[in-house]
Amino acid sequence: MSNAYTILLVEDEANIAGFMTAILTANHYGVRRARDGAEAMMMVSSYCPDAVILDLGLPDVDGMDLIRKIREWSQIPIIVVSARTHERDKVSALDLGADDYITKPFGTSELLARVRTALRHARAGSIPNGAGQSGSFCAGRLRVDYDKRHVYLEEEDIHLTQNEYRIVALLAQYAGRVLTYDFLIKNIWGPNAAGDNQILRVNMANIRRKLEKNPAAPEYIFTEMGVGYRMIEGD
Ligand code: CA
Repeated sequence: MSNAYTILLVEDEANIAGFMTAILTANHYGVRRARDGAEAMMMVSSYCPDAVILDLGLPDVDGMDLIRKIREWSQIPIIVVSARTHERDKVSALDLGADDYITKPFGTSELLARVRTALRHARAGSIPNGAGQSGSFCAGRLRVDYDKRHVYLEEEDIHLTQNEYRIVALLAQYAGRVLTYDFLIKNIWGPNAAGDNQILRVNMANIRRKLEKNPAAPEYIFTEMGVGYRMIEGD
């Protein structure tokens, strides 16, 4: 049985590749494996997989260069899996166009959630600034109404400012995926906005005060320390 999605796994270490292949095939994904960057490039173009899971430490190229190369001609979802835990590596990978980032070691459910999210966004197509978005996003008690441009908690309007709404709507649009500070700032305040996170932090503090029962332990919008924010996956 297959769910018709094929994942290209780019990983040089056999035991990690074996572990991930077992998880993915048990969940009905088709899996192909590339052991280095050259093989990965060939397989992305010839087999048209639905998503790529990419290890950054490859024998022939740096995974970062591979992201850059693939993005020159393909919007295929790329999920980076790496032992590198530096915030700047995560930010670079995401800013180069990776869709998500998982740090080793990781759990089965985390891997599957990231793959699901990446495939869902690929199907929905990306709408960089939310223009023309309609309908609503729901997660637990939270509802974002894109037509009315309001956010509700159990049908109670929580009265966000314009920018607060735009931040929440953007995170909801990419629910399950981490959005970098830079991506959020450029989308909300424009491409020339200062790369200073302060204004975003202030807005997020206000959003959490209105949205979260306990702003210090959020249920809806999570902080990826040093990287950005992630909205919980929708219902
Ligand atoms: Ca490796």
